[in-house]
Amino acid sequence: MADAGKKLVRSKSGLRMVSVEDKDTSPFQLDEPPWIPDNQCLTCAKCSSKYDIVKRRHHCRRCGKCFCGQCCSSKVPLPRMNFVDPVRLCEECAIVTKKENEFYDKQLKLLGNGSTFMMKSNELENEKTEVFCHLTGNHRSLLFIEEKPDKENNKPSKWIHDPVNLTSIEDVKLQMAGNDPSQRTIVTSMTIKYKYIDEMRELVLLVPDDSHRRPSTAWIAAMQKAVKMLQSTRDSPVS
Ligand SMILES: [Zn+2]
Ligand SMILES: [Zn+2]
Repeated sequence: MADAGKKLVRSKSGLRMVSVEDKDTSPFQLDEPPWIPDNQCLTCAKCSSKYDIVKRRHHCRRCGKCFCGQCCSSKVPLPRMNFVDPVRLCEECAIVTKKENEFYDKQLKLLGNGSTFMMKSNELENEKTEVFCHLTGNHRSLLFIEEKPDKENNKPSKWIHDPVNLTSIEDVKLQMAGNDPSQRTIVTSMTIKYKYIDEMRELVLLVPDDSHRRPSTAWIAAMQKAVKMLQSTRDSPVS
């Protein structure tokens, strides 16, 4: 639990483990919603049953609305709000959260572990180069590391290219091969469109045609999910 750069904070919903510095906050993090005050909710937001001494109010920790115990009975881990323990969620929020937790368990880990690609970018003036690409631990940026043994000069052999902020990505597109219906379609590359200071840039990650193909294809699929999740959070912020 003692993560470097993290601290425990207590909110009315439970204990949260958050980044000490704002600059380390994951772009996937959601703010806690304000709770609808008790005196404004007389009936359950789902089944409309009235509250009394036996039927008590429960707040969903994700949407902040009021429910009866039956309609708000799930306790689910909610890493997007950094809760240490599973928290009480309404049915609707429980479904969304369980799906997102799968993303946290699988795809986000995959993105952090990284994979190998051939890259084309503005920075490289469209020359191809092999890079190892991974998401930083705080989920904020993609790093592209090139290893190029330079025997002549005996210089350090690692180059780190311009990183890409995850929140600066406007769009990702997959390119496929194999339109023949008898063949399986395969992903050949991903184009990432992102904002770099004031201009739009593009970089292309080409899936290598060797033993890296499978992990690199999986990495690209995970990347597509990540961008979708950020876009949907941007479009409908929880408030
Ligand atoms: Zn209810
Ligand atoms: Zn809810």
